Amino acid sequence: MISETTKNSTPIADAECVDPVSACARSNSVEKQGIANTGFLDLSELIGILKPIRVQGPLAGPISGISIDTRKPMSEDFIFWAIRGEHFNGNDFVEDALSAGARAVVASRDDCFQNGSWPDATLIQVQDTLQALQDLAATYRNRFRYPVIGITGSNGKTLVKEMLASILCLERKTYRSPLSYNTQIGAALGLLGMRPEHQVAIIEAGISLPGEMDRLERMIRPDHGILTIISKAHIGGLGTLENTIAEKRRLFKNLKEDSFLVLNADDPLSMELAQDSKARVVTFGMSPQADVRAENITSIPDRGHQFIMQIFGNAQQIMLPVAGRFNVLNALAASAAATLLGASPEAIAEGLKDFRPSPMRLEMHTTVTGVTLINDTYNSDPVSVKGALDVLAKVGKGRRKIAILSEMLDLGLHSREEHLAVGKEVVRSQVDQLITVGENAAIIGHAAATEGMNPKRITHTRSHKEAALELEKIMNRGDVVLFKGSRWFRLERIAKELVGSIGATRLLVNLDAIAANVKKIRGIVGEDVAIMSVVKSFGYGNDSIRTSRVALENGANYLAVAFPDEGTTLRENRIDAPILVFNVLPEEVDKIIKHDLSCVVASLETAAALDRAATGRRKIPVHVKIDTGMGRSGIWVEDAVPFIEQVLCFRNLAVEGIMTHFSSADDPASDDYTLQQITAFEALLSELKQRGHSFRYIHAANTSALVRFPQTHYTMVRPGLAIYGMYPSEAVKSYIQLEQVIAFTTKIAQLKEHPPGRCISYNRRYVTSRNCRIATLHVGYNDGYPRFQSNVGEVLVHGKRAPVVGTVCMDTIMIDVTEIPEARVGDEVVLIGKQGDEEILPDDIAANGNTINYEIACKISPRVTRIFVQS
Ligand SMILES: *Cc1c(COP(=O)(O)O)cnc(C)c1O
Repeated sequence: MISETTKNSTPIADAECVDPVSACARSNSVEKQGIANTGFLDLSELIGILKPIRVQGPLAGPISGISIDTRKPMSEDFIFWAIRGEHFNGNDFVEDALSAGARAVVASRDDCFQNGSWPDATLIQVQDTLQALQDLAATYRNRFRYPVIGITGSNGKTLVKEMLASILCLERKTYRSPLSYNTQIGAALGLLGMRPEHQVAIIEAGISLPGEMDRLERMIRPDHGILTIISKAHIGGLGTLENTIAEKRRLFKNLKEDSFLVLNADDPLSMELAQDSKARVVTFGMSPQADVRAENITSIPDRGHQFIMQIFGNAQQIMLPVAGRFNVLNALAASAAATLLGASPEAIAEGLKDFRPSPMRLEMHTTVTGVTLINDTYNSDPVSVKGALDVLAKVGKGRRKIAILSEMLDLGLHSREEHLAVGKEVVRSQVDQLITVGENAAIIGHAAATEGMNPKRITHTRSHKEAALELEKIMNRGDVVLFKGSRWFRLERIAKELVGSIGATRLLVNLDAIAANVKKIRGIVGEDVAIMSVVKSFGYGNDSIRTSRVALENGANYLAVAFPDEGTTLRENRIDAPILVFNVLPEEVDKIIKHDLSCVVASLETAAALDRAATGRRKIPVHVKIDTGMGRSGIWVEDAVPFIEQVLCFRNLAVEGIMTHFSSADDPASDDYTLQQITAFEALLSELKQRGHSFRYIHAANTSALVRFPQTHYTMVRPGLAIYGMYPSEAVKSYIQLEQVIAFTTKIAQLKEHPPGRCISYNRRYVTSRNCRIATLHVGYNDGYPRFQSNVGEVLVHGKRAPVVGTVCMDTIMIDVTEIPEARVGDEVVLIGKQGDEEILPDDIAANGNTINYEIACKISPRVTRIFVQS
């Protein structure tokens, strides 16, 4: 995920299906985080469990979470747990934690207890803080009687966990450990997020040294197990494959007769675990003998994989919306476990259809410069590199493909051989340019050259910085760039820099929010009414291609645009859903035909031109537009019957729909008028019915009507604004709760101190009246920040409101940050969106200019970089 915004952590009290720590998911080091869980334990219970050497301060009180990083103080009432890491020792940060407001501290070193100046905080001393955390996790886990599923394996643990959660959470409250919390610390924290109201928990276990699995098993005590695969990926500290198998076996050593153990039928090493397990063994894989397997796999560009899943003999059609064929296997593993936990094949299909990979896993987005970035910089091992290269090959079909691959760590003795194998994969995937990062990664390049890749197209670098410079030299519009590497190599920074180098002013478009809004509309109209997602005007300023895709993936059935050229753009981007064009002139009908678009017909001229231009290959779908009082385009309702009967006579046209549009459905004061429009439309519909005409699509409702006048759903609705998270009017708000989609942000470009009496910006419309700090921002009316904001607008800096001072210029504005002394050059400024507890909506800006949020959103200029955020 590329997202520049940062949020504070939130408690997980009611987070079954959402990522419990999505708030801090952006930082990618588990060891620097913690877990929030309000009210899960009282301090007195915790002290009882830990049996500390010494306790100072209050002995009871609520706890809201555990933090192991003083820079992430979580929330009120958190405990700071001083853990010794590789690069730091938590005991050194006890003071910091206390000044950040920690309620309690668990530490091991004596000197942490010598300072008596924190009378309200509790200081707890234990021998070994990691052991204490694990003891706490083990005792806490034992409170719950619901099943705990333990997942381990060399690859795919997190993905299997997330897919399983996506299926199970449809029917029960499902907890899963956050992100990839699977280490000695991570798994303990993960367990501490469990809550009484959950009904099942999924916990990940990962190891790198012998003996570690026993410790994890003691904490997790899984009731059931899943082993994804044993590969050479993480042999590193374990030495040999045999050791790896022995270690993995330990997680499942206490499974009972009524437990199940899910194993990979394609992996002989994994299958060795079947021999001495008491548990019922079930298998997944491509092998014909697997209990759960996939058949007829087809990959659909940009959509994912479609296949038939054989689930213990039942065939189920599956749509898995993620790239990478290895994800089919992950889905099989998750489905095997889900079935044994009682999920039906239908529930499996639904859960997988909704699955979205966690952040930092194969994220894709296109920059304004037309470069598509595929970002998978979480970890790197032979299997996942191959998966990522597959994705690159597919997404990059017909375009220039650049792969940036880091060295794969932890491969121990097999390192050389595995890097060589990746080199072959690079050639097989027809990568055009290869940049390797890190010493051993050079082997990938040598192997690729040996396999026939032109050595001029291979560059070896030692760091992400060098790689970024190389990339800059070769990257062009239209390229597809894959970043694939171990976290250690920080490839995500190059991806960030690529975005960063485009400009400070950005529009962040949250595609997850669009998905949620479409689903909410589906909730209102039910399953039997089609949804036409209106994506005119560049998707209300968001970008029509991405928003169309997300809307379609989440249940929209039809798209609508204002003009034929907008439809052409969608087709050129391989969107093949039906598309209705609202406004078509007779001279534009060729585009309708050429691009398989549907056409609103509001005049005989357009209808005749369409009929003439049609090739006869297909009938052109048309929707007849009736004016029932909007007073815009369409045939006046009195003249409609003869008009429709004439259109029906054109041999090359198929009248697929009939529609009208409301003038004032957002305004309760005009409800009489809206009801008149409805009555007129329905009178026409019944007359047409009497005359023997029927229509596949009858539609009238925009956002306002679809929520305020349910009788206007007919067979299709046409929402626009709601999909983008905005309300047409106050009156609409009580019917539907939408998720905010856009954030319009920039950065402070310059800061200046001014004495009283200085004039700011054109025409001296602002004069300083005191000593002031004024910041200049690189955004202006050309970017869509309206000129009427001069002297009245507000923006957010450090979560506080700062006024716009002086006239808004074409490319710049000035703001007063005198009251925000912490503001620095480069700090984020929010023009629209949330920062801290403050929020500015498009509606707030619209109010200053006596206009509507529609206009504010769709005028954000194409010059502003769109960044698509999707988890
Ligand atoms: C723009 C438009 C819509 C969508 O309206 P919203 O208020 O954004 O939901 C629907 N139908 C027609 C004909 C439109 O022009």
